[in-house]
Amino acid sequence: MHHHNSIIRGHILAQTHKAVLAPIRPHGAVPCQVRTKMVSLAATQVMGGPETRPAVQLSVSPGDVLANPDAVVQVGVGQPTYTVRVLYRSRGGPLEGASCVWAHIGHSGWRDTQDVMLSNIDTDGISHEQVWQGTYLVPAGRLAPPWHLETQMVFKGLLGGHERWDNNGGSNWTVAVEVTPGEGLVAALNSSSAGTRALTSSLLLRLEALVASRLLTPEQGSVLRMLAWQHDMSTVKAYQSVRHLDDKSVAGALAGRCAWLRPPGLNVVHVASEMAPIAKVGGLADVVSSLAKAHQSSGLLTEVILPKYDCIQYGEVHELRQMSELEVPWGPDPNRTVRTVVWSGCVDGLPVYFIEPHCPEKYFWRGKFYGEPDDAARFCFFSRAALEFLARRQHEAPDVIHCHDWQAAAVGPLLRETYRASGLSRTRSVLTIHNMAFQGHIRGSFLQHMGLASRASHVVQPDIMLHHHHHQGQQHSQAAGHVSINPNGMCSWSNATLNLLKGAIVYADRITTVSPTYAREVLGEQMGMGLNGVLQRHQYKLAGVLNGLDYETWNPATDPCLPAHFTADDTAGKRACKAALCRELGLPFDGDMSPGPAAATANGHKENNGHNGTHYSSSSRNGGPSGLGPGGGWGPNGRPLLAIVSRLTEQKGLYLMTAGLRAAVEAGAQVVVLGSAPDPKVQREWEDLAREVASGGDARIMLRHDEALSHRIFAGADMLLVPSLFEPCGLTQLIALRYGTVPVVRETGGLADTVRDVAHSLVPEHERNGFTFSATDVSAVQTALHRAITAYRDGREWWSAELVPRVMRQDWSWTQSAERYQHIYSAAIRN
Ligand code: ADP
Repeated sequence: MHHHNSIIRGHILAQTHKAVLAPIRPHGAVPCQVRTKMVSLAATQVMGGPETRPAVQLSVSPGDVLANPDAVVQVGVGQPTYTVRVLYRSRGGPLEGASCVWAHIGHSGWRDTQDVMLSNIDTDGISHEQVWQGTYLVPAGRLAPPWHLETQMVFKGLLGGHERWDNNGGSNWTVAVEVTPGEGLVAALNSSSAGTRALTSSLLLRLEALVASRLLTPEQGSVLRMLAWQHDMSTVKAYQSVRHLDDKSVAGALAGRCAWLRPPGLNVVHVASEMAPIAKVGGLADVVSSLAKAHQSSGLLTEVILPKYDCIQYGEVHELRQMSELEVPWGPDPNRTVRTVVWSGCVDGLPVYFIEPHCPEKYFWRGKFYGEPDDAARFCFFSRAALEFLARRQHEAPDVIHCHDWQAAAVGPLLRETYRASGLSRTRSVLTIHNMAFQGHIRGSFLQHMGLASRASHVVQPDIMLHHHHHQGQQHSQAAGHVSINPNGMCSWSNATLNLLKGAIVYADRITTVSPTYAREVLGEQMGMGLNGVLQRHQYKLAGVLNGLDYETWNPATDPCLPAHFTADDTAGKRACKAALCRELGLPFDGDMSPGPAAATANGHKENNGHNGTHYSSSSRNGGPSGLGPGGGWGPNGRPLLAIVSRLTEQKGLYLMTAGLRAAVEAGAQVVVLGSAPDPKVQREWEDLAREVASGGDARIMLRHDEALSHRIFAGADMLLVPSLFEPCGLTQLIALRYGTVPVVRETGGLADTVRDVAHSLVPEHERNGFTFSATDVSAVQTALHRAITAYRDGREWWSAELVPRVMRQDWSWTQSAERYQHIYSAAIRN
């Protein structure tokens, strides 16, 4: 029984990656510092009989002799290497009293044998335990599988000049150790010991029980069974540490061993009329792509369905190909179908399907996205075709169809009234309203096209899809006498007007708007635009989720559109962007760009402080910067550059823009406008204004959609004016913040949720990020701009060293909002 008095401790320390990456000299080994991680492990595998001292023991526990620092090892291989430490107790064995001891060691059936010389260490110094210790390295690549090391050992010693062996009474020592990559020793087990066999059997039986009681899925059960069968030590060991717990806990711990078997995230299909960067009109496009991207990287399967417009930027669509063909039923003749080709392509890493109808109407071959007299019919067709495609797809139906705005609004009623019965029974719909101002109206006769004619009397109800031309207050009293109640059926509803967004609200499983404030505002008469009553009735499924910003696309540190880059910690590049932008626009840049800005700034400050008032008023009187020399008056960043980047429509506060533009120039600022005006009348007015300012050094107005220029403006400007009359969310103020451009906004919708006035004493200072006003009259915007320009002038240091970095550090990414959408999807599924 001599071996019972011997101890071997196998101990594996994982080397950290740092050490692996240490330079390796071509010749020989390089001593280098290795951070070793000691793992404390309570469980001890005992191989000897219980009544005696263990012969071979693998254990690591805090304070253990093994925890002695051993920071310097030799690294001679370009791959992760484990340090194995062996302890051997010779007292009472054949090698008792030996003067030298070697371990003869091999792996996985005595392969790669080597002799490791051990040195004597006296563990307690008194009892003369005769403990021998040695270490050696095993390249992780030699472990097969890499998390399982099996070591065979016998010991050789010199006794009175003679070689003696201790081979564990003829059976050798076999030690198995589990290793976690990057972590080190996890567990030590001997797979052939009786204890392990019993443990494995217990695990197998427990698995049967857990599957039978449905605490594990059959797939989990069979994978775990396989692992137990193969004596996967880490699984067996994991079981050992929880086996005494209740079934639920055991199931949880074991399920964690095969986490990769968990069901995948939801499959969400976005049905939308825009998607950045290939089909962008406004913020909707940005939201669709960036939300889908955020979800995709958190484990959802997100897909997008778009119309195949002729004006898509096809250069950005990769692997575009015709994928399948559909016959989409599309009236008025109930037997008429439209041959529709579905294309697939990859946009910004997202899977996208394009709907291309081949019919005389040429719905998406119009050279533009919207603004056609038959817009409602175009997008009703699109919605139906999208559902038809999804219902006929070979694989499982999506969990959620996420519909955006009225263009995808027909999906809601169609899904509930028809498609749930034909293939999409478990699919739920979520509607996001990006703008209540656009609702989509279509003649009732189109119910034929949509395949809803048989449900017409139901669908064309005042509280379902029938459109009201009345204000909400009158709605209930007048509605009953309206079109739909005519018992003649057909002709009554075919003359009615349907409101697509209203139908979507009624039929959606969940509804969102793009900011919490807007979600409240739309319940009121002013912002509800006739649908506030319907929204109130369906308020239980309504939520406001702030749009996030695509931090990949909008990143001043990497943005390829910019001439210089910058971060919150180093904003120097922002000034370079401003100088370049002014040059591009033909606006004088009055800042000092010469090196040694510290001196220039200090000088500028002293000189300017005395003259601020003068400059300010003289500039105001002259309407120009003529009195200002380079850097004069305004410091190294020059005069403040105020930007407007916007669709030029009533919603955006056109008269407030022009008043703000004039007020800013009056106060000595420069102004740049990048605007797209869909209305020709607005376009003409702004063209006149553009001509008026074109020759001076104060303002430039560019009337077009120009993505790259918008980036340069967001980066180069000092302030952004967003004076919207209403604003569901607004992206431009978020982009501005990310680019260190301070927003001046009207407090409405998402603007109110994202911009806090620098003078707002009730919010923490780090949240204050702009200038706000609430009234819709001209003086309100003028006052706010005056405050901003004065703050810029009188607090140059504060503005550039504190305010700009502060606003850049705020987080407007999708992180939180994407998660909120996931909760909303889950709620929709529970419906
Ligand atoms: P909306 O969707 O109502 O137009 P948002 O602020 O939500 O307003 O989104 C506007 C988006 O369109 C932003 O990304 C903005 O940069 C961009 N944009 C607006 N006008 C132009 C333009 N003329 N040129 C380039 N981009 C523009």
